Amino acid sequence: MYRRNSDELQAARTQLVSYSARLLADGLAVGSAGNMSVRAGDIVAITPSGIGYDAMRPDDVCLVALDGTKVDGPETPSSETPMHLAIYAATGAAAVVHTHSPEVVALSAARSELPAIHYAITGLGGPVRVAPYVRFGSAGLAAAAVAALDGRRAVILRNHGAVTYGRDLAQAYDRALLLEWLARTYRLALSYGEPAILSAAELDEVTAETRRRRYGERRGTRS
Ligand SMILES: [Zn+2]
Repeated sequence: MYRRNSDELQAARTQLVSYSARLLADGLAVGSAGNMSVRAGDIVAITPSGIGYDAMRPDDVCLVALDGTKVDGPETPSSETPMHLAIYAATGAAAVVHTHSPEVVALSAARSELPAIHYAITGLGGPVRVAPYVRFGSAGLAAAAVAALDGRRAVILRNHGAVTYGRDLAQAYDRALLLEWLARTYRLALSYGEPAILSAAELDEVTAETRRRRYGERRGTRS
């Protein structure tokens, strides 16, 4: 049941403000571009449209229901609210980060995929697809993003930006940073010539080893 003053939603609003400031500081967006959201039960807290990240306060963060109905907040929700809601509907995401970061935008204009230039891409589910261009804020963009996210935790939007999601805002944000780093690394590699790309089998091996080590850690903390 929705309670608009619940501790969880207030924490989400505060967290969105602090991560918005990081979005600028980390160069993942400029001005009020990009947007982020956190899901708490049936409610999504999402950054507002048209407020510069450096001026945003927790009360400016909008609360919307999963069907898009606005339930609280003085400002207009992000124009990409339909895309955020579509991702919550299609995945187990608890937070979504949408950036306009330069490396992924540049790649999106020239490539159809970010290939496995480094094994860390397994953290995003593998090579990251570039979704076809569709106008910002549209249902078509939401559908294109969800389709290209199949089996992935990140998608690049052609001539637009990127979206990552995670079990919380910290994880979704770290994935946005990782994605930008991978795109930059790929561009640097291209400057040397045709880079070697990891195969699906090599990526599977990394994923299996990562799982094995996590399992070992969990056992370790229990004993
Ligand atoms: Zn955008």
